[in-house]
Amino acid sequence: PFDVLIVGGGPAGAAAAVYAARKGIRVGVAAERFGGQVNDTMAIENYISVLETDGPKFAAALEAQVRHYEVDIMNLQRADKIIPAEEPGGLVQVQMANGGVLQARSVILSTGARWRNVNVPGEQEYKNKGVAYCPHCDGPLFKGKRTAVIGGGNSGVEAAIDLAGIVQHVTLVEFADQLKADAVLVSKLKSLPNVTIHVNAQTTEITGADGKVNGLKYKDRATNEEHLVPLEGVFVQIGLVPNTEFLKGTVELSRFGEIVVDAKGHTNVPGVFAAGDCTTVPYKQIVIAAGEGAKAALSAFDHLIRQPVV
Ligand code: FAD
Repeated sequence: PFDVLIVGGGPAGAAAAVYAARKGIRVGVAAERFGGQVNDTMAIENYISVLETDGPKFAAALEAQVRHYEVDIMNLQRADKIIPAEEPGGLVQVQMANGGVLQARSVILSTGARWRNVNVPGEQEYKNKGVAYCPHCDGPLFKGKRTAVIGGGNSGVEAAIDLAGIVQHVTLVEFADQLKADAVLVSKLKSLPNVTIHVNAQTTEITGADGKVNGLKYKDRATNEEHLVPLEGVFVQIGLVPNTEFLKGTVELSRFGEIVVDAKGHTNVPGVFAAGDCTTVPYKQIVIAAGEGAKAALSAFDHLIRQPVV
């Protein structure tokens, strides 16, 4: 069995693997896709000490650092279920989609999250070519340009306020007949001179030419009229979904599906820790996921050295 088995190979899982391996214990990483979300990222300009890199380069660097240690990397492997240890200090089992079962004295869950897509024509085609999901990451790439935010919940309205300080103009498009964000955010948004808000507006297409976004089409649901907003960028802000469906009923999740962790990365299951975008820790960013992964590995080690000698 592994001393530490890490499920998920993004920045959180990779950091956990390096920290755990440096304790000289047996470490495995099972990941559906090593690297995680950074594989889909263009420019990364906010990882501290790295002025600029791109996603695939960053993912390759994560893998190289993990491979530098004796870590058993099981790539293209999805976990389907975890079974807690039967007694304190016992083995946790992780059932894999391929039918295999991995056993470990401690497990770190770092399965990340995915952005909910609007599923309109143009979204996939122009992903990273004007269609973006993370204002903290990609906002500055649209400096001086026109952008839209799809979604009028807290994250959409926060994104619009954030972008309004950077870009030339923000159009916020909300499907429902009113914005669902907190009132204080909505009034802040309405006070900004370079923001236009459309409610009751269904996004129907993200248009583009020459491999770049050039507009957003929406239908006014009251009049059925179609409108085209010319712009350079679209931020989709209709939810971030944690990859935790397989943990339902075993590990405590928040109402948003995030794994509930304490300040040391403990879940409610003894010997099971979690880190990164799949947890309740706020602000889903690489530097934060990596820090949390390191922390979870140290907590797992702390747990292991406290187990009775058998
Ligand atoms: P993830 O990166 O999501 O990794 C999760 C891992 O778990 C993957 O290996 C996945 O395959 C695996 N996995 C999932 N389910 C299972 C399962 N059941 N069994 C086994 N493995 C599983 N952040 C920044 O700081 N700066 C940026 O510039 C930036 N740009 C971004 C651009 C885009 C387009 C996107 C989508 C995100 C961006 N982010 C950025 C956010 C950043 O990528 C995430 O915060 C970070 O990757 C989270 O790391 P993580 O390890 O928690 O999860």
